[in-house]
Amino acid sequence: MRLTKFTDLALRAVMRLAVRKEGELVTTREVAQVMGVPYAHMAKAVTRLQHLGVVEARRGRGGGLGLTVLGRRASIGWLVRELEGEEEVVTCEGDVPCPLRAACRLRGSLREAQEAFYGALDPITVAQLVDSPTGPVLLGLTPGRRPD
Ligand code: SF4
Repeated sequence: MRLTKFTDLALRAVMRLAVRKEGELVTTREVAQVMGVPYAHMAKAVTRLQHLGVVEARRGRGGGLGLTVLGRRASIGWLVRELEGEEEVVTCEGDVPCPLRAACRLRGSLREAQEAFYGALDPITVAQLVDSPTGPVLLGLTPGRRPD
């Protein structure tokens, strides 16, 4: 099982925002820079997180990105399911559909394995992800020159 790059970027953004200090201005560009990823890719991930109600953008003085209450309490299993969508780990119905797809036991087993993967992430919250040592490392990251 492999997460999409999109999901990985969204989880990185969530972790960065989870250690945001009161009054600290955090922008999508800053998150992209400290995580070493292109701004456009991070912007898409942040937009999706906003649609999910996990991240909010505050305007004006003291504004910037922040986690919502839902974002702080969210289960990583739920979040990863939302970000990954309904994709199965194998493509049975593609341009050239697999001839076994109507009666394949492997497909069912892979679905169960995928659910077990998500299930292992269900008890983990965003807040737990930034416990030490991750949180202190996140706070020590500084924006550098990164690809746009
Ligand atoms: S063998 Fe089964 S799991 Fe693999 S592509 Fe075919 S239907 Fe899907």
